[in-house]
Amino acid sequence: MENNNSERSYIRGVCRYCGQALIVSLSESQEEADEKAAEECDCDGAVKARRTRERIQNATDGIEKIFGSGAADADYEPLGAAALEYLKATATLMVEEIIEGVSVKIPGVCVAKLSMTGKGNIKICRSEGRTRTIES
Ligand SMILES: [Zn+2]
Repeated sequence: MENNNSERSYIRGVCRYCGQALIVSLSESQEEADEKAAEECDCDGAVKARRTRERIQNATDGIEKIFGSGAADADYEPLGAAALEYLKATATLMVEEIIEGVSVKIPGVCVAKLSMTGKGNIKICRSEGRTRTIES
C-alpha cells in the first residue's frame, strides 16, 4: 500500500493474515506498520501466529531452564550451545507440527527427550540416572 503522506509517517498497517488495515502507532516503514498491524489484529490467523510464537517461546524457555543457563541452578551440567540450539530447533518443529518429538543422547551428560502430551503441550525431559521434567 502506498503512503502518500509527505512526512513519510506510516500509521496504517495491513494485517498479513486477513488483509485488514489497522491504525497503528507511528512507524518508520510500511513493513514495520504492517508488522504492528499483524501484532494487534484479532483475526484467526494473527491470533494463531501469536499463539504459535508464544508456545515456541515457552518451550525454548523450558529447554534453557533444564539444559541451558538454568541447569546449574538445579545442580545439573549445562549443555553446549550446539546441543541447546538443536533442542530449541526441535521444539520449534514440534510446535509447527512437523515432527512429534525426539530423544537424543548427549554423550557423557544425559538423555534429552522432547515429546508431545495428549493436551498438546511439549514435555521436556532430562535423564541421567535422575530425571527432571517440565511441561509447557
Ligand atoms: Zn488480521
